[in-house]
Amino acid sequence: MGVRCPFVPTALCRPSSAVRPETLFGLFAPMQSLPGIGPRLAKLLEKSCGAHVVDLIWRLPREVVDRRFRPKIVDAPDGKIATLAVTVDKHDAPSDRKRPYRITAHDETGFLTLVFFNADKRYLMRELPIGEARLVSGRVEYYRDQRQMAHPDFITPVDRPEAIPAIEPVYPLTAGLTPKVMTKAIRAALDRAPDLPEWQDPAFLKARGWPAWREALLQAHAPDGPAALEPAATARQRLAFDELLASQLALAIVRASAKRAPGQSIEGDGRLCESVLRALPFALTGSQTAALSEIRADMAEPARMLRLLQGDVGSGKTVVALLTMLTAVEAGGQAALLAPTEILSRQHLETIAPLAEAAGVSVAMLTGRDKGKARADLLDRLGSGEIDILIGTHAIFQQSVDFKNLMVAVVDEQHRFGVHQRLALANKGRGVDLLVMTATPIPRTLMLSAYGDLDVSRLTDKPPGRKPIDTRLIGNDRLEEVIAGVGRAAQSGAQVYWVSPLVEESEALDLAAAEERAAHLTHRFGEDAVALVHGRMKAAEKDAAMARFAEGGAQILVATTVIEVGVDVPNATIMVIEHAERFGLAQLHQLRGRIGRGEKPSTCLLVYGGRLGQAAERRLRMMRETEDGFRIAEEDLRLRGAGELLGVRQSGLPVFKLADLAQHGDLLAAARDDARLILERDPALQSARGAALRVLLYLFERDAVVSTLRSG
Ligand code: ADP
Ligand code: MG
Repeated sequence: MGVRCPFVPTALCRPSSAVRPETLFGLFAPMQSLPGIGPRLAKLLEKSCGAHVVDLIWRLPREVVDRRFRPKIVDAPDGKIATLAVTVDKHDAPSDRKRPYRITAHDETGFLTLVFFNADKRYLMRELPIGEARLVSGRVEYYRDQRQMAHPDFITPVDRPEAIPAIEPVYPLTAGLTPKVMTKAIRAALDRAPDLPEWQDPAFLKARGWPAWREALLQAHAPDGPAALEPAATARQRLAFDELLASQLALAIVRASAKRAPGQSIEGDGRLCESVLRALPFALTGSQTAALSEIRADMAEPARMLRLLQGDVGSGKTVVALLTMLTAVEAGGQAALLAPTEILSRQHLETIAPLAEAAGVSVAMLTGRDKGKARADLLDRLGSGEIDILIGTHAIFQQSVDFKNLMVAVVDEQHRFGVHQRLALANKGRGVDLLVMTATPIPRTLMLSAYGDLDVSRLTDKPPGRKPIDTRLIGNDRLEEVIAGVGRAAQSGAQVYWVSPLVEESEALDLAAAEERAAHLTHRFGEDAVALVHGRMKAAEKDAAMARFAEGGAQILVATTVIEVGVDVPNATIMVIEHAERFGLAQLHQLRGRIGRGEKPSTCLLVYGGRLGQAAERRLRMMRETEDGFRIAEEDLRLRGAGELLGVRQSGLPVFKLADLAQHGDLLAAARDDARLILERDPALQSARGAALRVLLYLFERDAVVSTLRSG
């Protein structure tokens, strides 16, 4: 792919195996090429790790089993793995195959029963002959008054203790894979790991005391104790840094090439913007004004604009988008605004069209629903330049959509769009300036990892007059009270969002829950009072339901998380979130942002079920404490690092296999600086280190960017 792409991060993840260095062939072979891995196991491994051998080597151990623990039988704790020296007393073969085979053994402190299901008597007689001493290693369990070990992991004569590994890595497993198979597959994969040329700066390596790549990899897979599993362990740090450097370098390369692509210098005369500003019932906030002047300065530059506009829900991004687009129109060009859903496009159209049209600017909308003659007409008017601003969904990406002179594209809620779509858009004009808007307050570390060094404008102050939201936590057992309260509020004219619970990761179940809740509320408050939206509805039905709510036709909108983005109903002042404990912090924050937009005070009820886990409790308390999106985002990242997250449908942020952003944040900054320096000194990666860095890019499958390196 000719990457004229903007700063799109995940584009970098597409492998282009054509010019992969030969040293990496073994690692990028299919799973089945490993010895002992047949088609069935290959399939399981592919499902759990990925398609290639290399995906196995990144799967680091999660625990260690220390088999050096050698207690006497009486001291062996329940549930713990231990290695015991015992003498075999007798075999009890079952008469019935369904019952276990039992072998009794002892040491000077007590007895141990070894338990085997589906046992092979001949094998057991050979391995555990009566009267002989053996080392057995496995999990000890107390059963009634007995100490048992079911299926020891190792059985060996006492004079051959070396047959039992001292410390064994334990790998995360997926259904169908046993620890033995997983370990074996990973060992085989590690045998394929070649010595690679060093891509890190030698001085930096030395200062950190980090080993070479292959050594670090082997060390990470051979932990000598629990400390070696920590993110701070040397081998893990080195590997994490490699991954971060690959990603930062790829981002820096794309960015450099995007900046090289010729853009247009766009300067408006201010006439349209001024007329719209006069028509607005409010003055811009300080950060809106600041963002606009940053955007205009970028547009005036001949290089392309690549800017992210970050602002919490309700911070007023739309008007910034409009003024950005009008600047392009003033300069004689066209602009596009992309929204992830049809509802959102329509809402943007409704906000923007009256303002723009009053200033003599023509606005149109294009969605997947436009067909036939109407669509053809619209495309004609777009091609002739009659339409100044096009608002729409991904339909704008279609090949047949041609602008006369697209100067700027604004993408709302960017991570809902795929990489290819953004690429397609960027190719619709000559070096189109790009402004991406997101309501996700992305923490600094994640920003860096997703975009590298990207220009960012932030809307930090909310439009004046906003009232704080009263957020409360309520147990599920009081749901009846909540429903009654919602009923009273609705009766007195308030409008209510009711978010039905996330059910695992299943859209179908989410849907069922929403439908059930809607039915119940309809039963209580009548057909007219309740509207329902969910992700599986047809766009037209969804729009109709939303419209009914927005116009006040329905007081209660029951929704799955589809209301997460967009929708602006200032009269809605109550939000109920059922099973709030199942949502991630960022998501709760987004949802809550739908209320508190009008004059009247708002209330958010976080209804939780059952006993709250520690992390869930912290999330909900955080929500009660603050409305500051950036604080919430930082906390979200910290909690996510802790690993407990149920029901978070994640957005387009990159996933690292080795780096843990919550733990390796400092490494990320270092990788960013390093990447910048590398490209400054060696923009085409032609030095010896440059060649090694290319291998690094391939290794982490960030190689799509290699073709965009400046030649010579
Ligand atoms: P966002 O897209 O960032 O979530 P919107 O652009 O939808 O937020 O703005 C939310 C609401 O705030 C809209 O009703 C908008 O008209 C209003 N608004 C935007 N800027 C201002 C401002 N400077 N002063 C007062 N209200 C504003
Ligand atoms: Mg918006």
